[in-house]
Amino acid sequence: MPDAIPFETRHVLIDGHWRAGAGGQTLTLHNPSDGSALAEIARGDAADIDAAVAAAQAALDGPWGALTAAERGRILLKMSALTLERADELARLEALDVGKPLKQGRADAVAMARYLEFYGGAADKVMGETIPFAAGYTALTLREPHGVTGHIVPWNYPMQIIGRSVGAALAMGNACVLKPAEEACLTALAFGRIALDAGLPAGALNIVPGLGEEAGAALSAHRGVAHLSFTGSVAVGRLIQAAAARNTIPVTLELGGKSPQIVFADANLDEAVPVIINAIVQNAGQTCSAGSRLLVETSVYERVLAAVGERVAALRVGPAAMDLDVGPLIRANQLDRVNAFLAPYQAGHSAAGRLVAHGSIVDAAPSGGFYAKPSLIADVAPDAPLACDEVFGPVLAAMPFRDEADAVRLANGTEYGLVAGVWSENGGRGLRMARALRSGQVFVNNYGAGGGVELPFGGVKSSGYGREKGFEALYGFSVMKTVVLRHT
Ligand code: NAD
Repeated sequence: MPDAIPFETRHVLIDGHWRAGAGGQTLTLHNPSDGSALAEIARGDAADIDAAVAAAQAALDGPWGALTAAERGRILLKMSALTLERADELARLEALDVGKPLKQGRADAVAMARYLEFYGGAADKVMGETIPFAAGYTALTLREPHGVTGHIVPWNYPMQIIGRSVGAALAMGNACVLKPAEEACLTALAFGRIALDAGLPAGALNIVPGLGEEAGAALSAHRGVAHLSFTGSVAVGRLIQAAAARNTIPVTLELGGKSPQIVFADANLDEAVPVIINAIVQNAGQTCSAGSRLLVETSVYERVLAAVGERVAALRVGPAAMDLDVGPLIRANQLDRVNAFLAPYQAGHSAAGRLVAHGSIVDAAPSGGFYAKPSLIADVAPDAPLACDEVFGPVLAAMPFRDEADAVRLANGTEYGLVAGVWSENGGRGLRMARALRSGQVFVNNYGAGGGVELPFGGVKSSGYGREKGFEALYGFSVMKTVVLRHT
């Protein structure tokens, strides 16, 4: 095993101290680029969650709770600066742990720094209101922290998701307990080091790596937690929602997606095609907001397929350290899942749909790694699993549409509603489509794949509810109190 894994990243962080898990158990992390064991790290359990929640509450009752909003903001800005300084190291850890090509991991570190900068700057700019009320009264509102907030994050973008959720929660004065995904703990724990080095008081951020059904379930059920934010699968999101309901606490759910990229005949294809490719191959398609469905107006359908297919065929897949277009998938069963979606479209199968193009896995890719070829499949039936279900891999499902109404019907025809992209030079149509699409974000003539620190982000339908990112997240991570004074 490489010994290049920092001390801190093998431990839980509770009340400012790095230590072994209470039960003395460990988790084995694997390197997706070659399948090898990477590190043994602490496997936190319910006892660690208990201690973490108690430490967070003590921080709220002590030094952390006593800071002004401006002081909290300054600490976040320091965390942002340290994150930027350590971006290369964070990218290295992410490459080992998640298989992310180095430039993509570095981009995630820079995005995390930007979240911390945004929320550091915003910490002292969230205000209540005075309300015109009855004569002889003054009525006002205060925005207060929830208290202890629980953050359960997935493995696909640990840094970005921690930045947007923990960053906003700390800005509002909450104390956090973070449970990273069991497949991806290293950058989360490195973030804990950054927080301590920036002067965040002990207990304001506690990090408990561990299994979902162990540490994650304990955190979501804990009576001392006042708010939960969860990013992950629909199935686990429903469990979190049920746990939150038992304690009557609010929850923000960022779940999956099957986001359409809709191309009209009048689109600027030179601009659209590279963006369409990036929206599906970024992070090997393991992106909740991946643009995984390509809907194209019939008259330009074959032209678009040819242009997209040509670029897909040129994509190269390989280990994170080679920093190619696409890295490995996170684990073996994710690769099996992607291959199962692709199987009906291979030669010899009779399902409607055709494989237009696929990229290639470089010869230097270790045989133990979890590599999937990026693929473009055309003529996918709207009710086929590939058109309806989240693959979480680099597979783009294309289908034609006749007109605007047909495009809206297809685009809205899944259980998800996270992001949508529309490509058309007709501004009126762009706006009409934006209003008609059932989706948390709509991009016209661009596609953010969830990007944009300033832009509220979240879903409708099975994609979840609540908004992270932007100023909106600060409202989610705070609770409004109304105060009425009678003075005559
Ligand atoms: P997952 O739901 O299995 O795991 C996510 C997190 O939940 C992990 O930390 C895991 O340990 C924890 N968890 C698992 N079981 C739990 C339980 N019973 N109680 C409490 N916590 C539990 O998801 P995954 O497979 O790791 O991630 C992929 C999914 O996440 C995809 O569906 C993807 O769309 C979604 N996702 C959504 C967004 C978004 O912002 N909308 C972002 C990234 C990923």
